[in-house]
Parts: sequence; C-alpha cells; structure tokens
Amino acid sequence: MRNKCSTFLFPDKDTKLSVVQISSNSCRSPDASSEIETDCNYLIRELTAANILLSCSIKHQGSVTLQISGNGPISLVVSECDNNGFYRSLIKKNSNYDDKIQSVCTFEELIGTNKTAIFSATIKFKDRKRNPYQGIVEIQGAGLSESIESYLNKSEQIPSFLRLYSSGKWVKGFLLQALPTVTDSGEKNSFNQMKLSLSSIKKNKFFENDIEDFFMKTHIEHNLIRTKTMTPRFRCTCTRKKLLESLSEILKKELGQKRQESIEVKCEFCEKVYCFSRD
Ligand SMILES: [Zn+2]
Repeated sequence: MRNKCSTFLFPDKDTKLSVVQISSNSCRSPDASSEIETDCNYLIRELTAANILLSCSIKHQGSVTLQISGNGPISLVVSECDNNGFYRSLIKKNSNYDDKIQSVCTFEELIGTNKTAIFSATIKFKDRKRNPYQGIVEIQGAGLSESIESYLNKSEQIPSFLRLYSSGKWVKGFLLQALPTVTDSGEKNSFNQMKLSLSSIKKNKFFENDIEDFFMKTHIEHNLIRTKTMTPRFRCTCTRKKLLESLSEILKKELGQKRQESIEVKCEFCEKVYCFSRD
C-alpha cells in the first residue's frame, strides 16, 4: 500500500466520493522529533488526511489550511495542503499542561471544547488577485471527523459525510459530497443512499484493503468514474526569508539591541534550524 488520494464521480454526477490513505509516519517530516504522546498523534494524522481530501477536491490552484485550537492539553493542530497533494502539519502541546497527557483522553478532553475550541479552514488561491477565504466554526465535541463535517455542512453548505480512521500504521478516510446540479430538486438521493451504505462499513475493512481497491470492488455496481488521483507527500515550504518575516518583534529587538550575537529559529513544521545573526 502507498499514500494515495482519488476522487470518483457517480454516473448521475450529483455525488462525489474522495478517498485517502496515508502512512502514519508520513504526516510529519522524517526529521521531526516527537514530544507529543503517541496517543495524541491521531489528531495530526487525521487532520492531515482530512485536508488532503479537501485540497484534492478544490477546483482552483491553491492551498487549504485547516486549524484546530483550544485550551486543552493540545493547544494547536495545523495542516496545510495544496491541490497537488503536498502537505505539512504540526501539533503543539499547551504549555500550561506539564504533565503527561492521559492516553485515555477523548477528542473533547484533548482540545477542550468549552466554547473556546475552534476549527478554521482557510483557502488561499494561487492567483494572488483573489482574496483568501476563511471559515470558522466552534468545535463539535464528538470528534475530528464530525467537527470538519459540521463545518462543511453549515459553513460551506455542501451536504457532506466525512469519516477518518487511524491505526498505528495508516490513516484512511473518505469524503462524500453532494454536488449542485442543474436540475436540483433538493433531494440528494444518491448522496443519502451512499451515506447510509458507507455508514455501515466496519472500520477494519478499511485497514484490510487498499482504500481505492476497496471502494472500486464494493461499489462495482455504481460504475464510479475516476476524476483525479494523486500521491500525497510531505513537503515543507519554509525559507529563511519567510521565517525572518515571521520573527516576533521581541526577537528582532533582542538582535537589534545586541543582547545576543545570533538567534536560532526552528521551523515548527519540519524542525529545520535557521540561524540569524545581528548583521
Ligand atoms: Zn520547514
């Protein structure tokens, strides 16, 4: 099995199904250290997989950034992905929580959903003349899939059904979306039927099979039309110039006042270290 993401149309062209599978260790840079307990890493894996599904289905050239922030033991999870499947993601612990995070923590306990936890999605266009679009919603306690699904249904107003599943080695998932059609009667028959059928699939079936083969075989009667396929890969877009621009004013002041000869700044996505000296 390898990393992949594909999109299929149903023959009546009113429903779209995107599927993804990525190996768990490809969510971050191979050089990234991990100070986050393994049990929390499903958050970064699932957010990355969800973002690949969304980025794969955008029609224009650009990128999608998904972000979850809250006041629980995990304060931030971010994933960026462009429409060619190049992604980078990060997860941050809340510095107010020194203790080891309990492995039994639920999604709600990790993020903290008491009205302070938010989910945001930002779409940036390669065409710089177009302004970025951002949607923000409160986190729904149920889980990551449900929070993103709720954002798509409410904010984007696209009937959507999203499920993500993690095992130690793989993250797999799918996104079913109803498309606006010319003769839109308000009834999304294939979407509703498919949603029902997808809800009944047992989680282990996704892990026993390559995700694309699985859907092609189990939905053979639907004559799925493949519209896109790509190989998602980690790629960090950090540069010296971008990092310098993002340096806080305090750090710039420290350098300016000659308090320090140089400072080292680590890219939070790939952990590459950049050294900035006074001159
Ligand atoms: Zn980087």
